[in-house]
This record gives sequence, C-alpha cells and structure tokens, in this order.
Amino acid sequence: MTYEILIGIDRDNTINFDEEAYFGSKANWKEDLRFCPGALDGLRKLSEQPNIALAVLTSQVGIAKGVLTPERVEEVNHTMDQLLRQEGVNIDSWQYCPFVNRSGAERWEKRDIQGLNYDFVLEDGDARSNLKKPGDGLLRLAAQEFGIDYDSISKFVVGDRSSDALCGYNAGGVGILINNPGVGRGPSSFDKTGKIESMLDKPENEGKLYIVSNLVEAAEIILGSLEKSTKFYR
Ligand SMILES: [Mg+2]
Repeated sequence: MTYEILIGIDRDNTINFDEEAYFGSKANWKEDLRFCPGALDGLRKLSEQPNIALAVLTSQVGIAKGVLTPERVEEVNHTMDQLLRQEGVNIDSWQYCPFVNRSGAERWEKRDIQGLNYDFVLEDGDARSNLKKPGDGLLRLAAQEFGIDYDSISKFVVGDRSSDALCGYNAGGVGILINNPGVGRGPSSFDKTGKIESMLDKPENEGKLYIVSNLVEAAEIILGSLEKSTKFYR
C-alpha cells in the first residue's frame, strides 16, 4: 500500500495539554502528560488507515529560548510515542523545529530573558525559517522520510493555532484549526488575528480551511476526502 495522504499534526494543545507552554521544561513533566479531549479517538481513526502517513510537526521554540534542550524534546516525543502506541495510535514520523527568528530573539532580549541558545536563532533570509510553521518545512521533512512525492500527495495539517492551519494551506493542502473547548490554552491563543475566520469566508478557499472542535472532527474531514478519492480512482 502506498500512501495517499500525508497528515501533519501539531503536538502541544492539539494532542497533549500544554497549559503553561514549553511542555517538557519542568522536571516533573511526565506527571503533566495528559491527552486533549478527542485526541486519542481522532488519532486512532487516522492511524488505522494504512494509506495515511501520520507525522507530528511541533514547534519547540523553547530550545532557542534556552528552557528546553533538543534531548528533552526528543525524550518527550519518544515518551508520547510509546503512550500513543499503547492506545493504538502509531505516529509514523516526529518532526520538531528548535528555531526562533532574529526578531523573536530580540523580543526576548528586550524582556531581559536570560539563557537564550544562539545556536538556534535564525538570521534573516536563513532557509531554515521555512521549518517554522506556517512554513511547510517540517511537512517536507516528513515526506522525505517516507519517500513521498510531495507535490502529488494530498496534504493536511491540523493544530490549535492559525499557524498550523496556514501550514497546510501554504503547502497546497488543507488546514484544519482546532478550537477545543476542553483545552485551557494558557498563553497560546485561538486564531488571534481572526485570519482563518476571514479566509474561510472567501469562496476560493472552500475545502482548503476548516475550524473544528477536536481531533475526531478533523479526522472525519480527512477520511471523508479519502472516501471521495477512492470512489474516483478505484
Ligand atoms: Mg499547539
């Protein structure tokens, strides 16, 4: 079976609760690891489809801020992967972005935040800034890992921030924004500028952007599109 759909799923506040931001930065992070309402059921629906490639795409800007290390992020991903497998969810690829742009680093400096890791501060024009959502660099890395032809596969990106939905949209695929009423979001905010809602109103964006309440609803949209393509091509 070859893959027909490539799905990027955001991690924090999409799969797991991250109420205080920089999940994994606290020593006792394992005690705080809880899945968002609907996350396991939604992921299971997607994971059981053999023609879907499932990749977690997570921005871990806490590495650049110096509150997380790459090793810790990988440990969190690994732990989450094991727990998800116990629940019948197989994630095929884990991708994270450790970088902050120069402008973001300057905002931290102005707030006198100490301990920045300048190895992960990107200068203007650095191509790696496409790894930062809404860029689609992480999705491209996942496609490479699977040996998928990026341009011809159907792509979806799902997450709790407008940058997640825009990542899927910018990739030439579909962006699904989750506004989960059961998730206390802390400092992250839902469609802060109203950008996704205003884009939804435009007829040319029909079928390219959605706002849903949880991962189950996101999975239903994705599986609905798979049914349609099956009808036509088999
Ligand atoms: Mg998130």
